[in-house]
Amino acid sequence: MGLFGTMPGVSGSIEVVCGPMFSGKTEELIRRVKRAQIARQKVQIFKPAIDNRYHETEVVSHSSQSMEATPVNSSVEILQRVFDSTRVVAIDEVQFFDENISIVVEKLARRGIRVIMAGLDQDFRGLPFGPMAALLAIADTVDKIHAICTVCGAGASKTFRKNPKESTQVLVGETDLYEARCRAHADFFGEDEDQLAFFSNLNANLNDSRSKTKNL
Ligand code: ADP
Ligand code: MG
Repeated sequence: MGLFGTMPGVSGSIEVVCGPMFSGKTEELIRRVKRAQIARQKVQIFKPAIDNRYHETEVVSHSSQSMEATPVNSSVEILQRVFDSTRVVAIDEVQFFDENISIVVEKLARRGIRVIMAGLDQDFRGLPFGPMAALLAIADTVDKIHAICTVCGAGASKTFRKNPKESTQVLVGETDLYEARCRAHADFFGEDEDQLAFFSNLNANLNDSRSKTKNL
């Protein structure tokens, strides 16, 4: 029996490549797809139709590498479009999909398919992006990769929105809107009033329970 209760060599797998914008997720997805093609495995690449920044029907990296991809409007559409002969399914910008994507990729992996996904783990506030937390939990392998901080040159794990007043989670853009930043230069907490209120309540509760225990 293999690691996941199936015969060795016939079980599928779920791989996630995550990190901020410009960290090389699409490059890594393309690298893995090319190697699968060298091994003569049938590959299908999908992307969310919402991501039309460079091209409607290609995944494109910031270093201008590209590959043909099928744009889809929902995660279930991926299930409907995968051929019986397909061995590898690659999905770019997976954070834009609905929450059913976890069920879809589990189903594909159970059919023996290797699923490779690339996506943003965090949104511009540093919070888990859409279905990513669930996908990271169910994945067999996770690679979290870094970009270069545009301020100091350190490894960057955050995507910084240049105009934080624009508060919708999904705002498709490029270097005009976003930069890669390290933790020190992506000070989400400093400006977020909800977070400040949370910490001041926490302190008040701690002081309250300390004075209660003193009186015991
Ligand atoms: P992602 O899919 O994670 O957004 P890509 O694979 O499209 O990333 O692009 C990665 C490429 O982006 C790098 O190889 C490099 O050429 C370029 N790049 C531009 N800005 C940065 C940055 N701040 N840090 C790292 N790479 C950058
Ligand atoms: Mg990308």
